[in-house]
Amino acid sequence: MNLQQLKHDWTKEEILDIYNKPLMELVYTAASVHREWHKPDEVQISTLLSVKTGGCPEDCSYCGQAARYHTNIKVQALLPTETVLAHAATAQANGSTRFCMAAAWREVRDNKDFDRIIEMVKGVNEMGMEVCCTLGMLTESQAQRLQEAGLYAYNHNIDTSEEYYDEIISTRKFDNRLETINNVRKAGITVCSGGIIGLGETSEDRISMLRTLANMEKHPESVPINALARVKGTPLEDNPKVDIWEMVRMIATARIVMPASMVRLSAGRIEMTEAEQAWCFMAGANSIFTGERQTLLVTPNPGISEDMQMLQRLGLKPMVKERENAC
Ligand code: SF4
Repeated sequence: MNLQQLKHDWTKEEILDIYNKPLMELVYTAASVHREWHKPDEVQISTLLSVKTGGCPEDCSYCGQAARYHTNIKVQALLPTETVLAHAATAQANGSTRFCMAAAWREVRDNKDFDRIIEMVKGVNEMGMEVCCTLGMLTESQAQRLQEAGLYAYNHNIDTSEEYYDEIISTRKFDNRLETINNVRKAGITVCSGGIIGLGETSEDRISMLRTLANMEKHPESVPINALARVKGTPLEDNPKVDIWEMVRMIATARIVMPASMVRLSAGRIEMTEAEQAWCFMAGANSIFTGERQTLLVTPNPGISEDMQMLQRLGLKPMVKERENAC
């Protein structure tokens, strides 16, 4: 198989048939695809830092950073560039090859804060790390500026299915997400886009979300699969915990329909045992977020030393550098 043979015209029925395979067969198929496209013993280590926290005007019902919900998240203005670069240096020393900076904004504005983000991107890029940002909606010219500063990837999740989107977020439309992803593509930046399960969506919604991603002209180079991290004070705080086998099914299905992409086991790891995470790696996940701060934005996450010990016990090793792909 080569990149030209990747499929971009999946039907819902085809993806649903994969998702509903008997679990052992599904994991076996996904693990075989994983071996064909990636080194199965390598896991990409990424560090995510919240450079501006809370106070967001959006109403994403899963998010503790939305200003309208009464959560105990501490609002933090945009960090100074030196602070961010010091975190990036620590992450690199700990084995991270990708450094992601997140700001809780609805959209990027052309102001001094954006100028500071540009400085941060340049600084991290000069360290030789892949630099990624997630800053909300972007125009084409803003994406271009980020690309010129050395941005490698832009994260913009589609969150859930198009059909279920309005149940989760009312302050923007599904199409707004696709527009930003398009602007990122046009600027020549790689795309990191996935979604969250556990929002109250059906299996059909999950399939629809994967279909949107897998039918993009180019598959996102990175596909984060998140399990809802239930934050007290948000509308979804009482949702049931995501069942591990549903997570494994999602990861395996994502691996099969987007074989060349990095499938990132993202939020929700803190609630998984090591054995459960091992199932996710077996199903084709080959990337995690970790770091010395033991948080993923504003929710708890395993720490770097705990993760390194886990990888060692499982016979996995940190990926040196993500291979270029053009899926
Ligand atoms: S997910 Fe992002 S856009 Fe939505 S409320 Fe949280 S910070 Fe704002």
